[in-house]
Amino acid sequence: MHIAVIGSGYVGLVTGACFAEFGVDVACVDVDSEKIARLNRGDSPIYEPGLDSLIRKNLQAGRLTFTTDVAGAIKQSLVIFIAVGTPPLADGSADLTFVDEVARTLAQHLDGYKVIVTKSTVPVGTGKRLINLIKTQQDKPTEFSVVSNPEFLREGAAIGDFMRPDRVVIGGADPEAIAIMRDLYRPLYLIQTPFVITSLEGAELIKYAANAFLATKISFINEIANLCEKVGCDVHDVAMALGMDRRIGPKFLHAGPGFGGSCFPKDTAALSKIGQQFSSPTKIVDAVIKVNREQRLSMIPKIERLAGGLAKKRVAVLGLAFKPETNDMRDAPSVDIINGLVERGATVIAYDPIAAEEARQLLPEIELAASEYEAVADADVLVFLTEWNQFRALDMERIRKSMKTPRIADLRNIYDPVSIREMGFEYVGVGR
Ligand code: NAD
Repeated sequence: MHIAVIGSGYVGLVTGACFAEFGVDVACVDVDSEKIARLNRGDSPIYEPGLDSLIRKNLQAGRLTFTTDVAGAIKQSLVIFIAVGTPPLADGSADLTFVDEVARTLAQHLDGYKVIVTKSTVPVGTGKRLINLIKTQQDKPTEFSVVSNPEFLREGAAIGDFMRPDRVVIGGADPEAIAIMRDLYRPLYLIQTPFVITSLEGAELIKYAANAFLATKISFINEIANLCEKVGCDVHDVAMALGMDRRIGPKFLHAGPGFGGSCFPKDTAALSKIGQQFSSPTKIVDAVIKVNREQRLSMIPKIERLAGGLAKKRVAVLGLAFKPETNDMRDAPSVDIINGLVERGATVIAYDPIAAEEARQLLPEIELAASEYEAVADADVLVFLTEWNQFRALDMERIRKSMKTPRIADLRNIYDPVSIREMGFEYVGVGR
């Protein structure tokens, strides 16, 4: 089967490379010609473990191609995935400019029955709207179906998540399109992956509901963490005991500076807008968003208290990406927190193993160090902002000696407060 994936970002590239690995002929399309040129050299523009080798292998095998020729890719494909960005507008709703642009292009080039799949996260009602948009833009009507197939991959673990998902969700009304989608996903069907077949609206809402629920767990544990600090107990113990209850589960119960990244903030905001649009307010989601914003900003006075003021202080930050194993800096908590520190007069020197290049654009006022140890030299306070594995076993004795004053704000609760204090550090975590 030939398929096209329009939009070669995090989701489009992983989708394209993984389907090619399943033996499908895939054309990945993007408007960014530099990105396409890079990809044709086998060089991935994003950092995602395992993606580079999957791209190179399938390029060589001739199953994966990268192109800016959207018309050609549409013509040769039976299934066309839309995987372009749906960033937030100022009011929180999803910006569908890129999706609509693809729909208009599809209307021009459809030349026979095709299945058009929204892989992008799109508001409820988008699938039906796209059907009308394409129909009204077509000069010569052709048959086509629109299917929603939301993506649940996590950056940093995307290949494994795509190849071994908890479930595949397919929404649509046309049995032929559903059968084609099942056929495409056959390798997953063979490993007994559950398939949820539902309506277009059902699939669109499932994606937002899943992300909002995970974000709710994070805001919930952060609220409990703040209470732990007041009553004098450790959120680590509370979260562990909570997570042992199989009805709750241990995932997404890590207290910290709040959620960030390209999905949770924008998808919770968009779900809230969808609720308003359908006169069905999402009061819990609204509270999750508020708690998250306050949690992120409350990290600035926490660091300030530990440092005894921030004016003229040297703050070493370890970790900038919104989470480990990615170079994605979109809506990373580090950006707001570092900007707050700089506004209060601190000098920030930061180290991230992968995201330094991205950080240089977003945080031009900070210095970037070449290693953890270079960052902490002469620092008044050390702040952990991303829990990269390599930060878990640092030479803390060397760090203590090289800092001006040995103070740690561990916003990811990487270290054990008791042993780190015994080593001579002043230490604050989140909820401990
Ligand atoms: P991204 O910004 O990394 O990639 C989007 C790509 O689309 C870019 O390369 C851009 O150049 C390209 N593009 C824009 N307009 C185009 C057009 N008209 N034709 C061809 N290409 C075009 O975005 P992403 O992170 O991959 O997210 C894509 C969608 O998937 C979003 O809706 C997002 O919410 C959803 N999603 C993302 C993740 C994630 O972890 N990043 C997970 C699940 C779902």
